[in-house]
Amino acid sequence: MSDNILSLSCKQLCDKILAKEITSVEAVEAVFNNIEKFEPKVGAYVSFDKDRALGEAAKIDKRIANGENPGPLAGVPVAVKDNMTTDFGTTSCASKILAEFKAPYTSTAVSKLIDAGAVIIGKLNMDEFAMGSSTENSGVKQTYNPWNLDCVPGGSSGGSAAAVAAQMCFASLGSDTGGSIRQPASFCGVVGLKPTYGRVSRWGLVAYGSSLDQIGPLSKDVTDAALMLNVIAGDDKRDSTCVDESIAPVNDYLCDLDTPIDGLKIAIVPEFIESASDEVAAAINNSIEVYKKQGAEIVEISMPHFEYAIATYYIVATAEASSNLARFDGVRYGHRSDDIKSYIDVYSKSREEGFGQEVKRRIMLGTYALSSGYYDAYYLKALKVRNLIRKDFTQAFEKADCIIMPVSPTTAFKVGEKTQDPLQMYMADIYTIAANLSGVPAVSIPCGFDGENMPIGLQILGPSFQEDKLLRVARMYEANSGIEYKKPAILD
Ligand code: GLN
Repeated sequence: MSDNILSLSCKQLCDKILAKEITSVEAVEAVFNNIEKFEPKVGAYVSFDKDRALGEAAKIDKRIANGENPGPLAGVPVAVKDNMTTDFGTTSCASKILAEFKAPYTSTAVSKLIDAGAVIIGKLNMDEFAMGSSTENSGVKQTYNPWNLDCVPGGSSGGSAAAVAAQMCFASLGSDTGGSIRQPASFCGVVGLKPTYGRVSRWGLVAYGSSLDQIGPLSKDVTDAALMLNVIAGDDKRDSTCVDESIAPVNDYLCDLDTPIDGLKIAIVPEFIESASDEVAAAINNSIEVYKKQGAEIVEISMPHFEYAIATYYIVATAEASSNLARFDGVRYGHRSDDIKSYIDVYSKSREEGFGQEVKRRIMLGTYALSSGYYDAYYLKALKVRNLIRKDFTQAFEKADCIIMPVSPTTAFKVGEKTQDPLQMYMADIYTIAANLSGVPAVSIPCGFDGENMPIGLQILGPSFQEDKLLRVARMYEANSGIEYKKPAILD
C-alpha cells in the first residue's frame, strides 16, 4: 500500500485524499517510512518533524471529513529548501552561521503551499546560502544522488531534487539563482521549473543574488510542476520585485496543459548541443526528433553573448551576495564567536567561524567587484553584458516559441570530483545561468539516461511570463517521448 501511495503524483494523491480513498495521515506515514529507510543513505533533509507533520495531516483529514475542500494540495506531503523561512523548525540555509536560526515568519511561497492544504514534512539540504552546483558546499552534510550514491545530486537545491527522486516527499520547492532548480532536477531525474523572475514572491527567501533568485517547484512530472506553480505564483505586496498580476496575469497552468501547441517553433543553437557530452547531446537530439514528429518546426539560431554568461553571473551574483550576506554579523543575525576581545572580533571572528569556504570566496569576489576603482571595470561592465544577453533572448523569441538546450554538459558527477577546482564547477553552469541573467522561465524535464543509468535533463526556455506555454511544450515531450517517471533502483 505504502509503495503504491509513494509513486503517485501530487495531483493523483490529492484526488485520492479528497475522494477519501487515502488519508493524509497515511500519506505522511508512507513518506516517513521512506525517510527512515533512505534518509541515512541520501541525506536530503536538514530537519524534519514527524509529529508536527502528522498533526497537520490529521487536521486536513478532519476538514475533509467535515465536507471542506482544503485546496489543490489537500493533504499532500511536500518539503522545502532550507533557505525559505518557516515559523516552525529552523531555517539554516545549510550554514553554521544560521544553525539554530528560528524565523519569526513563514515565507510567502511556503504559506501558499500550506494554504493550499500541503503538509510540510521538513527542510531540505542545499549548498550553503545556495552557492554551489553539487550540495558539497553544505555546512550541514553531504546529500547523495539516489540514482548512484557515489554521485552528487547537483545543487544548490540538491536536497529538494534528491528527496523527490527518493520519494521522501511528493514535491518540493527549490530556489534557482543560476540553475539551482534545473541542474539538480536533471541530475536526479525529476522535473524542475524556474519561473520568470517576479512570478513567485521572494518574501522570506534568504537572499543570495536578489536580481537572479527565483523560487520554483521540483516534482515527479510536468503536471505537478503546473499544479505547484498554480499555488505559488502571484503578486505579493511584501516583495516589490514580484510582478503585479494586472501587468502579468497568472494563468491556470493546468487547464490547457495537455493541449499540444499547433505550429510550434523551437529554436536550437547547434553548438550548444555539440558542446555537451556525447550522451547528453544524443538525448537532446532524440528529443528534438520527438518534437519534429509532432509537427514542430526547428529553427537554428545563434546567441552570440551566451558565452559571457558565466563571467557576467559571477560578478553580478557575488556582488549582490556580498551585500546580502552583510547582515550575518553576529549582531543582527547568526552565530556569535565566543572568542571576542574587540568589537571588530564580533564581526570578523563570528563570520570566520560561521561561513564556509565557498561563501567567503564569493563575499571577497563580490566586495572586490564593487570596490571603488573596480566598480566600473567589473560590475558596471557586467550589467552591460547582462543586457546584451537579454537581447539574445528577445531576438530568439522573435523567431521561435521556445529554445531547447541541455541543462548541464554532463550527468551527475562523483562526490569530490570537482571540489578542488571551483572554476570547473562554475563552468558546468553554462546552460542554466543565462535564464537568470535575463529573467526568463526555464524548465528541466527528464529525457533519458546515460550508459551508467544516470538521468539526463532537457532544458526548455520560454519568453517571460509565458509559463503556460512553456509547460505545454514540456508536456508535449513528456506525453509523446515514451519516457515515463521512473524511480531509482535503491527504492526497489
Ligand atoms: N551553481 C550556481 C552558483 O554556484 C547557481 C546556484 C544557484 O542557482 N543558487 O552560484
